[in-house]
Amino acid sequence: MSIKNNLNNISNTIPESVTLIAVSKTQPVSSILEAYQAGQMAFGENKIQEMTEKFDTLPKDIEWHMIGHLQSNKVKYMAHFVHLIHGVDSFKTLEEINKQALKHNRIINCLLEVKIASEETKFGLSFAEVEQLLKSEELKNLKNVNISGLMGMASFTENIEVIRTEFKTLKNFFDSLQKYKSFNVNPTVLSMGMSGDYKIAIEEGSTMIRVGSAIFGSRNYN
Ligand SMILES: *Cc1c(COP(=O)(O)O)cnc(C)c1O
Repeated sequence: MSIKNNLNNISNTIPESVTLIAVSKTQPVSSILEAYQAGQMAFGENKIQEMTEKFDTLPKDIEWHMIGHLQSNKVKYMAHFVHLIHGVDSFKTLEEINKQALKHNRIINCLLEVKIASEETKFGLSFAEVEQLLKSEELKNLKNVNISGLMGMASFTENIEVIRTEFKTLKNFFDSLQKYKSFNVNPTVLSMGMSGDYKIAIEEGSTMIRVGSAIFGSRNYN
């Protein structure tokens, strides 16, 4: 199967209201171009340096999504072009994004990463921490960020019911956040679902899926 075929197969089976992010981490520029020429505009990367290099070489109308865990000191390299940052899991990181966004006179859209999986290794905030952050007075000072929703990753398991329950719980929590709506909190995006579980994620209310291997084939590393 070609990248184009894979993309078409996925696009044709997901609702129009769901945004597909093609996760191109570790993939060469040639593969990204192939997807772009097939009409794919949004790509996801998990390393700032790799994303910045690809941004420099590839067509400028591509939307770049940072989906990996963030190192604050590297935010400055992507602040002028990043479209959406999915993995924000501390106020400190949000402050740094705000600072760098201000330098470029931009408002950067961010998703708060929520820990929904049972595994120890996953990053992310607890539900209580998300609420604490959204309620905080300090958040009102960050005029150059917009919290546009949540991101979550389900447990790495074959057990579909476990995955479904985690997505369902995240969706319920997402819906409950509308009460925090303000000038810089506008929860409209729920980023959940990857190659192995995006169908379940969509059934449970995902609005944005991050799909890599089902488009580009398997990676040797990530
Ligand atoms: C790599 C990655 C994906 C895509 O994973 P696939 O299983 O290849 O679809 C999605 N989200 C995040 C955060 C990732 O790091």
